[in-house]
Amino acid sequence: MELEVKIYNDPILRKKAKDVKEIDDRIIKILDTMKDIMYQKQGIGLAAEQVGLTEKLVVIDLRPNGKNEPIELINPVILESEGVYEEHEEGCLSVPGYYGSVKDRKQGVKVRYLDRDANEQIIETDDFLSVVLQHELDHLNGVLFIDRMSYARRIMFKKQWKKMHSKRGEV
Ligand SMILES: [Zn+2]
Repeated sequence: MELEVKIYNDPILRKKAKDVKEIDDRIIKILDTMKDIMYQKQGIGLAAEQVGLTEKLVVIDLRPNGKNEPIELINPVILESEGVYEEHEEGCLSVPGYYGSVKDRKQGVKVRYLDRDANEQIIETDDFLSVVLQHELDHLNGVLFIDRMSYARRIMFKKQWKKMHSKRGEV
């Protein structure tokens, strides 16, 4: 399956994802391809919108023990969230070459999802994984981390992005 990473300004990144109704061969292939892309690009997470699809699919791997330990989330939902994660920098495979400070992440989240065998799973975390989950689930709602930066930083980003890409005629 051929999929490619969609870059900032692609309208697909602004679409809301739909529930996966049935976990069939196609969905499994998409998850496998998404993981391949995530590892190839050395990302830690990827949502379906980022490869041009509008289904609620996310893959994450923080490689906690130095080896691949992917989490595949189908139809993930945040059930609970609490606290405030300290301000930190985020990046995104769809916004290559840019890292920016995000301040309104929650410290802890409880997320419910289906795994590829259609079993319901729950993750409860207040570690960095919490932030990654929020970043990826935002993608499913058409939200980018850029949107969660301060107004001043967003303006700066847009200028910088234009500069970076006008050179190559990609504005
Ligand atoms: Zn992202």
